[in-house]
Amino acid sequence: MVLQPSFARLLRSARAWIALGILAPIGMLIVSALMLLELQQDAWDRVEVTSKNLLQVIERDINRNVEIIDLTLQAVQENLRTPGIEAVSPEMRQLVLFDRASTARDIGVLLVIDEHGAIGIDSGALPPRKGNYADREYFRIHRKSAGLGLLIGRPLVSRLTGERMIPFSRRISKPDGSFGGVVLGTLKLDYFSHLFEQLGLGRDGAINLYLRDGTRIMRHPYEGTDIGENISDAPTFRRFASERAGSFVGTSVRDGVVRHYAFTQVGDLPLILNVALAARDIEVGWRAKASVIGIAVLVLCGLTAFLSLAFGREMRRRDSLQVELARLSCTDTLTGLANRRRFDEVFATARDGALRTGKPLSLLALDADHFKRINDRYGHSVGDEVLKRLADCLSASVRRPDDLVARIGGEEFVVLLPDTDADGARRLAARVHEAVSTMSIATAGIGAGAITVSIGLASGATVAGEPPEALYRAADAALYEAKARGRNQTQCARETIASVRTSKSSLQRMRA
Ligand code: GH3
Ligand code: MG
Ligand code: MG
Repeated sequence: MVLQPSFARLLRSARAWIALGILAPIGMLIVSALMLLELQQDAWDRVEVTSKNLLQVIERDINRNVEIIDLTLQAVQENLRTPGIEAVSPEMRQLVLFDRASTARDIGVLLVIDEHGAIGIDSGALPPRKGNYADREYFRIHRKSAGLGLLIGRPLVSRLTGERMIPFSRRISKPDGSFGGVVLGTLKLDYFSHLFEQLGLGRDGAINLYLRDGTRIMRHPYEGTDIGENISDAPTFRRFASERAGSFVGTSVRDGVVRHYAFTQVGDLPLILNVALAARDIEVGWRAKASVIGIAVLVLCGLTAFLSLAFGREMRRRDSLQVELARLSCTDTLTGLANRRRFDEVFATARDGALRTGKPLSLLALDADHFKRINDRYGHSVGDEVLKRLADCLSASVRRPDDLVARIGGEEFVVLLPDTDADGARRLAARVHEAVSTMSIATAGIGAGAITVSIGLASGATVAGEPPEALYRAADAALYEAKARGRNQTQCARETIASVRTSKSSLQRMRA
């Protein structure tokens, strides 16, 4: 794969890696957080479905059992109206009135109670057991009003068996419409507790069955004090009563636990069933998963950030090393001046510039006089010191930022002077002679005037087609001449090729 140049450059940049080291972990954290939130939402969605399924199964079971009891009560109601039923023997009457439903496991008692509250007919005993129910709420309600149909009462303790039960009753009306008693069937509360016990609802989960008036019929997990309690004022119950079915998240008034409540009315009966699962239980699996994923992502993010930052730092170090290397490759180690390589580069650029702009370019070639003698007399290290001092003199003599002083060989230097004509270069050469003449190295016993230099100067505009090194050669030749003429002086090269050519062409014009 071929990388786009800009992308490849980006990969090589330390800043890009540092930015990546910060942005990538932030990105990873955001994506992971979104994923975890989605997993959490999934957990809640699953609870919604599970609760609804549970409600459906239980509602159907309760509805069917209540239907069986009611059908039995209606059968008794009807059979009591059968002509001659009063005349048949008690055994026969019991057989006619009660079907096999009365023997079902969860059915408590099935009684016909007369208008005075006494047991008239008892499905479970012959002669009927003794008891009076005139004080029971259902008896009083039926006595007061006809046409109520099936009445489901609050949980009570059976006077015959001592068990907790829910009373289901229907009114018996005499042919003239007056109150003739009550048919009573009860459903043991054990039925509900067995039904609810089978469900796995978590540590803080609960399932409740209420009467529409807010009376709790059964709760699982079971506590005796919960049964018969009225919670019609609780906000959760008000919500149950306001809709036929639904779900919401709320806080329990009973124990302050936040739960997901799913509720439904049981068939068309005045019963409300609800399954409540604790938020803590719903999220327990998600929490375990989230903490593992969270820790793993944090570790990975930390590692990514650390590695990217370390990599970025390493690239930055490499960049500065490269800059330093580049600087060193262009610098003369003894004097700190530009070296030959740097001079060649700058010279080529300056030459091109001069060619383009037509501005003059000057060059001084400088050589220490009789330097071998200095070395021989004072030693090589003093010779080095003299070279450094010469470098300082040269650097101090140039004034423009574009001027370049370079050491190009043992005791040879050049000064490149862009945009400078021969007069300017001559003045600079004079300054150099002046500075060198005052140079002394007291520690070595070298006094002022002991060191001298010879300078060859070449100057002029450059022209296309001229060999690149022409100016340098001219300066070198002038330097040779300065040496030949006795040293410690500046010799100017012939006017540059361009000016020579110009004068030649004017001569030619004159001749013509
Ligand atoms: P001239 O006036 O003709 O230039 O005489 P000269 O002695 O300066 O010239 P020559 O080329 O004969 O000698 C140059 C000497 O410079 C030879 C060498 O030992 C010395 N030299 C070259 N590079 C260094 C250096 O880095 N340090 C020192 N101390 N001496 C150097
Ligand atoms: Mg030399
Ligand atoms: Mg020399």
